[in-house]
Amino acid sequence: MSETQKLDFSAVNGTTLASFNQHKNLIKRMLKGNSAECSECKKPLTLQLPPNSNKAKSSDKAPGIYCAKGCTDIELDIEAVALMK
Ligand SMILES: [Zn+2]
Repeated sequence: MSETQKLDFSAVNGTTLASFNQHKNLIKRMLKGNSAECSECKKPLTLQLPPNSNKAKSSDKAPGIYCAKGCTDIELDIEAVALMK
């Protein structure tokens, strides 16, 4: 009975890793100043960077990559981004 559970679990992990790498490549491209568009609505994506200082105004949006319509909503892992720079 535990065999099926193991199979399901690894399948979930594989999907998560694949989409994580996809998001990472997208963030890298946008950090370099390249533009990208939403795969759903084809609108340009916005990169919301985390505030760098205490004086920075807190944004109503969490760091991440968004499109205008909201079909792309990728949360940014601040530590991961720091490693990319
Ligand atoms: Zn979109």
